[in-house]
Amino acid sequence: MVPMAHAHAVTHDHAHHEHSGRKLIDAARESLVKSGEQWTAMRESVFAELAKHDRPTSAYDIADNLSRSRGKRVAPNSVYRILDLFVANNLALRVESANAYLANTHPGCEHDCIFLVCDECGEATHIDDDEVSRTVRGIAQQHGFKPERPVIEIRGLCKACAG
Ligand SMILES: [Zn+2]
Ligand SMILES: [Zn+2]
Ligand SMILES: [Zn+2]
Repeated sequence: MVPMAHAHAVTHDHAHHEHSGRKLIDAARESLVKSGEQWTAMRESVFAELAKHDRPTSAYDIADNLSRSRGKRVAPNSVYRILDLFVANNLALRVESANAYLANTHPGCEHDCIFLVCDECGEATHIDDDEVSRTVRGIAQQHGFKPERPVIEIRGLCKACAG
């Protein structure tokens, strides 16, 4: 099998599930309901719209697309609030250096996700490598710093753009 663009590092020591399409939306709903939050029609629309994009998408773009598809204006602020809730509940990932979001393909499983962000085409490859993030958290702790959320993003050129 040819490795996918959203390939996984091989450091998983647990049952790690990656989802896509309808299965991803179901997994996200299950995960949110499990944390005691409601899966509303609006939340589902935002998640489905987010999951359509394989590049990081801004709250503004999601609001624009939803306004068009729902035929009435969706305010970016309400999209922001939903995305914040998704990030807090591990349903979405924030790519800080792109100021944008990606659907989390493993909503049932927590990792410090690492991104390779292409400066040319904007593609963000999602990698999970717990060894790397453990090391980064360890360095912070050695400096007496309590690491809450390591942000590990590598800017550069993807394979297609570098070629
Ligand atoms: Zn996992
Ligand atoms: Zn991840
Ligand atoms: Zn690229």
